[in-house]
Amino acid sequence: MTQNRVLVLDKNRQPLMPCHPARARELLRKGKAAVFRRHPFTIILKDREGGEVQQIRIKLDPGSKETGMALVAHFARRGPTVIWAGELTHQGAAIRKALEQRRAHRRFRRAKLRYRAPRFDNRTRREGWLPPSLQHRVDTTMTWVERLLRWAPVSALSQELVRFDTQALQNPESSGAEYQQGTLQGYEVREYLLEKWGRKCAYCGAENVSLEIDHIHPRSKGGSDRVSNLTLACRPCNQRKANRDVAEFLEKDPKRLARIEAQRKATLKDAAAVNSTRWALWRGLVAIGLPVEVGTGGRTKWNRHRQNYPKAHWIDAACVGESGGAVRLDADHRPLAIRAMGHGERQQARLNRYGFPVGHKAGAKRFLGFQTGDIVRAVIPAGKYAGTFLGRIAIRFRPSFSFVPSADGKVFDVHPKHLTLLQRSDGYVYTQ
Ligand SMILES: [Zn+2]
Repeated sequence: MTQNRVLVLDKNRQPLMPCHPARARELLRKGKAAVFRRHPFTIILKDREGGEVQQIRIKLDPGSKETGMALVAHFARRGPTVIWAGELTHQGAAIRKALEQRRAHRRFRRAKLRYRAPRFDNRTRREGWLPPSLQHRVDTTMTWVERLLRWAPVSALSQELVRFDTQALQNPESSGAEYQQGTLQGYEVREYLLEKWGRKCAYCGAENVSLEIDHIHPRSKGGSDRVSNLTLACRPCNQRKANRDVAEFLEKDPKRLARIEAQRKATLKDAAAVNSTRWALWRGLVAIGLPVEVGTGGRTKWNRHRQNYPKAHWIDAACVGESGGAVRLDADHRPLAIRAMGHGERQQARLNRYGFPVGHKAGAKRFLGFQTGDIVRAVIPAGKYAGTFLGRIAIRFRPSFSFVPSADGKVFDVHPKHLTLLQRSDGYVYTQ
């Protein structure tokens, strides 16, 4: 099992080439380096200044729930190799839920007012506005890109930007004819069809099953190879349909037949295939000033399948774009799991379930020098939990904190006198 390489800084905090964990342990043992950060593990050298670095590229596969990240180093002899991987879990759903709850509470309270002049349609949103749950995805991803830029000698960036290449589909000569030959074109067509047909079987509506590309009007009956004649079907439907025409196959279901015929002719608008969050992220990456390579989802999958890599967010990240065509990686590599937790809340009043204030939030965020989310070492001399643990705390405003050990996650209470701070809370929870 390959581990993430350890990030290395020189004595002026300039990033050097990440090193093997064994090398980092040796440097720490000999006193030549100190721990700079626990997560991601970063050391700082005590007397080195500058040093030789290879080209490193940050690669990103942005997702709605998780974003895959990989650092790929271009070694002269071994070629592009994944040296660090991370998977960032966003909290978009939690943000959305909190805002919806706030909205409902406010609406309920306002309804108690005797009279209020109507107010509607009088707010403008700036251009490029994203809902908070989506903006959060862009922001947390940019945070991690910026962090990695500080801690590793990065010279280029890659991002998966769109699901498929519309240009490739518009080319009439290759409009799907090669879809089964495992070509890049074929992968782009498949991604297009998944998007267009809503990731379900066109004939029975089955979701979350493996889908096969099907000719709506079979080729044997004069149907064309163009994408407008292709759809996705689950295996049972595909086999039952065999090489019958769609009109014959759906004889008893004229409604569905009409729907398929209508949808077949519709072309998926470009806007449906791209998403605003990814474009917002792309604009952020371009603003950094390093070269940004973009790729399609079709190409990512094609690269991953050709190299026989399993599916994982960080592997997809490594396979993004043209540079993902030949990347060395160990499928057992353990990525750093990073979960966004936020930095507390701004809400000052505690609400009951009807949205009425029932108390006030404690003013302070810290107690006895500790803050919720801090990573600590607990050395407990005696009692049921005697021993040494690493973990994360949630504070209370009395000397009894809730402690989550990173080893097994079984929560117990600790007295802060047993704790040593290792890393301040930075809005994320880490699992290596
Ligand atoms: Zn089906």
